[in-house]
Amino acid sequence: MALHAGLLHACGSSETVRASGQVAAVSWNSVVDVAAQSELIDKLLLWVQENTNYDVSAIRQSPPHINFCNVGERIEYEGERIIVDPDLNAAYDSQLRRINIVGPWDLHNTMDQSILLHELIHDVQSVNRTWYCLQEPEWEAYKLQDAWLAQQGTVSGFDWLYIYFLSRCPRDHHP
Ligand SMILES: [Zn+2]
Repeated sequence: MALHAGLLHACGSSETVRASGQVAAVSWNSVVDVAAQSELIDKLLLWVQENTNYDVSAIRQSPPHINFCNVGERIEYEGERIIVDPDLNAAYDSQLRRINIVGPWDLHNTMDQSILLHELIHDVQSVNRTWYCLQEPEWEAYKLQDAWLAQQGTVSGFDWLYIYFLSRCPRDHHP
């Protein structure tokens, strides 16, 4: 299992990271085990295949890119430049088919794995069908994340009322 940082798209320059005082955050970026990460992605996509009606075969052949970043960095997101907020865990960019994950993120941590699963679900949702608005897929993504966590023996602790409102389109055209 080779450690290979070259396949990872670190966002922001090392100067930016150093300026924000997060030198330690640089190191986790370069030690992510890409082979183990690909294995995990495939395992999670298989779970989506088995637990939904979505077809994930094409996505398993060509999974989305993973972009690791740090709080305070500027990243490209849905065609715009945004600054990574301390509240942000991850964000899926449907235009680039890219999952931005905010570090530190641990490949072996169940909650961190579920964050990756949530973003992979967004890729599956985006590739398979159209949605009324950007927020609409959130309900299903959180529901599946919660179900996966439960299977791992972990309680999500999600606030469903909050997620319900989060998932509503601006002018609610929900079915
Ligand atoms: Zn989401």
